[in-house]
Amino acid sequence: MSDNPFAPRPDLKVFLDGQIVPVDQAKISVFDHGLLYGDGVFEGIRSYNGRVFELDAHVQRLFDSAKAIRLTIPMSAQQIKDAIYQTMEANGLQDAYIRLVVTRGVGYLGLAPTRTANPSVFVITDQIELYPPELYREGMNIITVSTIRNHPNAMPPPIKSLNYLNNILAKIECVDAGALEAIMLNVDGLVAECTGDNVFIVRQGRLQTPSSDAGILPGITRAVVMRLAAQRGIDVQEKQLLRYDLYVADECFLTGTAAEVVPITQIDGRQIGDGKPGPITQQLLDDFKAATRGER
Ligand code: PMP
Repeated sequence: MSDNPFAPRPDLKVFLDGQIVPVDQAKISVFDHGLLYGDGVFEGIRSYNGRVFELDAHVQRLFDSAKAIRLTIPMSAQQIKDAIYQTMEANGLQDAYIRLVVTRGVGYLGLAPTRTANPSVFVITDQIELYPPELYREGMNIITVSTIRNHPNAMPPPIKSLNYLNNILAKIECVDAGALEAIMLNVDGLVAECTGDNVFIVRQGRLQTPSSDAGILPGITRAVVMRLAAQRGIDVQEKQLLRYDLYVADECFLTGTAAEVVPITQIDGRQIGDGKPGPITQQLLDDFKAATRGER
């Protein structure tokens, strides 16, 4: 592992199945269906100044994802919350990115979850900086990609499963094109979401975002931003959006736990608005920062 420049810090501690263990002992069986088939669920969470942001919403989404794939999580919601704080403490972290994962467990070499046992629950806490700070001041350029978002009747996007290949295929296109994030359309050609973020636009003072029936992960940051906008008296619409709507938007931004609120100033080579982060985006970015500090 030592010749891997992307290997985790060797002093990291991980919560695995009830215990805090050093990272080199945080191992999962090659027979775990989480690895063999991507059969499992996860959450990406964040803490600010020692307080885990929107913890109830994340734990609820984890249990919903698990229920949708008929996976019984072998811990209660409270035990999971305690494990998260325990892992942060073991690593001395106040501001952390938290990865909470539940695998299907070790099983027979066939697809059926009925031939597995002992789902594993683990929690990784570490630092994360997804994008460079100047992007939050100047805005980011993104593209739309040809990989379509999973059809909701094939692999429902609201299930935050360990199979992220749909998003990874889009990410590969995006990296090849030299962009940092990419917008995926659904099978009907409507805007769905980015590979790891939700999309918002501002049009004539109104905030617009694809509705959940576009086939998206209903982001927790998305919900927080919609609440913050309503508090400012900004009209919020969940509606069908075309690529055209993105191109003619006055403002655009992305939301996600890791990314937070990122202003978008170019899409597919078209300048958005005047090419600078817009006033509503700036306001919501400030309000979001305040919310992470527990001030809104
Ligand atoms: N869409 C996808 C596909 C994601 O993976 C994420 C990140 N979890 C989001 C949207 C944003 O969701 P959240 O705000 O809950 O992090």
